Amino acid sequence: MRPHRRGNQEQGEQPASPRLATASSVYLLAMAPLTILYYALPTETAKFVVWPIIGWSSVFAILIGVLRNRPAAPTAWYLLAAGVTALIIGDNLSSYQFLMPQTDAATGPSLTDIMYLAMYPLLFAGLVVLVLRRTVARDRTVALDAGIITGGLGLVWWILFLAPYYRDGSLHGIDRLVAIAFPFGDILIVATAVRLAVGGGPRLRSFWLLAVGLWSLLVADALYGYFTLNSSFSEHTFVDIGWIVFYMTWGAAALHPSMRSVTDGGPSTRSMSPKRLSIVGSAVLVPPLMLFAQDAVGDVSDATPIALTGAWLFVLVLIRIVGIVRSAANARSETRIRALVDKSSDAILVVDGEARIRYHSAAAERIFARNAADLDEAFLTDLLRVADAQNLRVILSNGSPTTNVEWRVRPPDGKWRDLEVVADDLRGTAEVNGLVLTLRDVTRRKQLDMELRHQALHDSLTGLPNRVLFMDRVEQAMRRAERRGGSVTVLFLDLDDFKLINDSLGHGAGDSLLIAVAARLLASIRAGDTLARLGGDEFGFLLDTGEVEEGEATANRIEHVLREPFVVGDKLIQLWASTGIAAGSLRIKTPDDLLRDAELAMYLAKRNGKNRFELFRPEMHDDATRRLDIAAELLGGMERNELFLHYQPIVDIHSGAIVGIEALVRWQHPRRGFLPPDEFIPIAETTGLIAQLDKWVLNEACGQVAAWKSEHRCDESFYISVNVSGRHLQDRNLTRDVRDALAVSGLDAGSLVLEVTETALIDDVESATAILARLKEIGVRIAVDDFGTGYSSLTHLVKFPLDIVKIDKSFVDRVANGNGGDVMVRAVIDLSHKLGLATVAEGVEVDLQALALEDLACRWAQGYLYSRPVPAEDMAALLDARHLPATRQKRGGAVRAS
Ligand code: C2E
Ligand code: CA
Ligand code: CA
Repeated sequence: MRPHRRGNQEQGEQPASPRLATASSVYLLAMAPLTILYYALPTETAKFVVWPIIGWSSVFAILIGVLRNRPAAPTAWYLLAAGVTALIIGDNLSSYQFLMPQTDAATGPSLTDIMYLAMYPLLFAGLVVLVLRRTVARDRTVALDAGIITGGLGLVWWILFLAPYYRDGSLHGIDRLVAIAFPFGDILIVATAVRLAVGGGPRLRSFWLLAVGLWSLLVADALYGYFTLNSSFSEHTFVDIGWIVFYMTWGAAALHPSMRSVTDGGPSTRSMSPKRLSIVGSAVLVPPLMLFAQDAVGDVSDATPIALTGAWLFVLVLIRIVGIVRSAANARSETRIRALVDKSSDAILVVDGEARIRYHSAAAERIFARNAADLDEAFLTDLLRVADAQNLRVILSNGSPTTNVEWRVRPPDGKWRDLEVVADDLRGTAEVNGLVLTLRDVTRRKQLDMELRHQALHDSLTGLPNRVLFMDRVEQAMRRAERRGGSVTVLFLDLDDFKLINDSLGHGAGDSLLIAVAARLLASIRAGDTLARLGGDEFGFLLDTGEVEEGEATANRIEHVLREPFVVGDKLIQLWASTGIAAGSLRIKTPDDLLRDAELAMYLAKRNGKNRFELFRPEMHDDATRRLDIAAELLGGMERNELFLHYQPIVDIHSGAIVGIEALVRWQHPRRGFLPPDEFIPIAETTGLIAQLDKWVLNEACGQVAAWKSEHRCDESFYISVNVSGRHLQDRNLTRDVRDALAVSGLDAGSLVLEVTETALIDDVESATAILARLKEIGVRIAVDDFGTGYSSLTHLVKFPLDIVKIDKSFVDRVANGNGGDVMVRAVIDLSHKLGLATVAEGVEVDLQALALEDLACRWAQGYLYSRPVPAEDMAALLDARHLPATRQKRGGAVRAS
């Protein structure tokens, strides 16, 4: 790990000034001529002029450096400056003493000594502050190594400088103390110097200048002490260079901008470096070497300090060895843990306070899709999205112990990755000294989450939004619309007769058809609209507008895109759809209401003939409830005999004779009054009550006609025509119901005609054919009702065992209007006759129609011209008259209404 920086940069102070860096170098260079001058000049001038310049310039350089560089901890520098000041004052005083004759031998320390001695605690204090600032985490090896080296050096110092004074009998009291105090002070400085050398922290130019100056001071002091002891010291010698170097390096150190980093902390990482271990080892060898040397000289005078130091070093080395063994074990388990970490799919990163990556496990390379070299020392913030990078900076600055966050990265490979991140702030620990980030790649899980969410909200067949999502969108759109005071429009689409496709072609074909329909519908909407599959063959459209016209436009587009037939296998299939349109805002209805309104309008579109759209109108609600009520009341009505029959004669156009009658059901509702069949037959058809209703009509009509026959009100060929619903035709009980009706009434099968609609026949050709065949077996005749309203041609109907064709009123209406409307009817009548089918013209209202039909050789007719449907009593009266006065009226041109 790189040294950790703290302090200035983070406080955002101005960057290092190049001018100060230059000043530092200039100061150093300026010392060279001064030094030369110092030695060139005579001693007095040198001492009085040059030396003070060198000393005081150092003090000023330090003070200027502190003021200009503004270090985070100026105290240390002020203490150091004070120490240097004490030294130069001491030097200046000593120069005076040197000049002054030694007037007295006064005891007690001189002012010079006091100034010199004052330097030690000041320097020591300053250096201790430095050591403390530079130590970020407790590291026992630093203290131990410093202790060992200082121990070795201390012993040398003792033997060389302290012991001689200690043993010197000529010195007494204060003088002796003062004499000892100097080397003792040096030992203090040695200790801090060693500690600085061993400890951590940044080592930039200023640090090295300080270190050089410090050791230079110590060496000069040592030499001075040595020469003084041997009484061979003379002023103005090369020893002075040591102090000059001290002054100049310290001044330059303070001037240099890197002085701000001197008080910055950093971990020590050199605890096992060979250099350090060899220095520590040499220190341990000092006591035996000293003992050996003294023994060799024959004067072992320092046995006790040597022994004590030896013991002291032994204890320290022992502790150190234990630490080394432990850290070796740690290193082993670290390798193991590292292997595990690298195997792990979670990536582990350690970043420093500036987000620079100090460590990364193997998995990080995969997550960031970069190789190890690109990650080393990279700024993590550069690898993250802007917001995530900001998030990381916040984590780094607020320093909470553990933080859980989620990031997304898009490394060079372009694939987004979702990361679950746990950040543990271990910047306070010596082992890690950084922010530990555990990154888990949760992309796959997120993707699954999203897929599940997608599945829950989408239709699996078409991929369109499903009803849940659709309703959610509708709600959101309504809220948006609410804010701007508008409303939204929804369309509810239901494919017409889609059940037939599924039944005839199978569900596989039905599914592929639905997919094709969805694709076309999608093409019919505009950007911003939502198309959803609401279920089965139902689709929903959400338009972000309250304009109903837009809904109609969409419905028209839908009609347009469905116009082309679909190809399924080798078949062409034409599809139509019925659509309901509703618009609304939250003020009036809920999203559910809105969709229900559209659905209601869709039902109305179906009832009004399918393949069309209807706009929702509030009355539709009343209509719908009314229909629901009627459905609920119908069964009870049947049981309470509220239903009854009207009969309408079918006459021979030519003679006006009544050849048969059609039974038409009515309901006398206790509350709603008289209800025509259109009001309840379609409802009965949707609820399944229709079979029961038809059965009741069959029994009633057969019973009535059987009665009239037995009363001889009509002849043998007279028949009763009863309507059978398309739904009932598919019911296998129909033949049984017919048999029962005939059996109970005693009516002969030949007198019963069943009317089925053309569409009922072609809805399910196969089963219709089978059922008709069975009915024919019974002996009843079959009439195809409302012929011409379906889509089939008559030849289409040949395959059915039919007897009578009832030409729909819409054709009859056109017969007499003169512009060729009779062409179709003529063709139908001709073909019918060729196929041996009798023809009945329905809804004949005017004379002209009857005349025209007669000319076209249509045999029978039915309509208001002859008689409206009438109650049984009236019908009986008509039968008694045998002939309707139709022919006569026809000739007279008057219209007769019953
Ligand atoms: P439909 O079978 O086509 O019956 C003929 C309808 O035309 C009857 O209406 C009749 O009143 C009406 N109509 C007859 N002549 C004329 C005319 O000259 N001009 C006009 N404008 N209308 C004429 P209704 O009775 O209201 O019956 C309507 C439909 O209800 C019937 O049409 C039939 O499909 C169904 N329906 C009636 N009774 C029954 C029943 O008992 N069972 C079943 N399943 N359906 C029935
Ligand atoms: Ca009919
Ligand atoms: Ca009819």
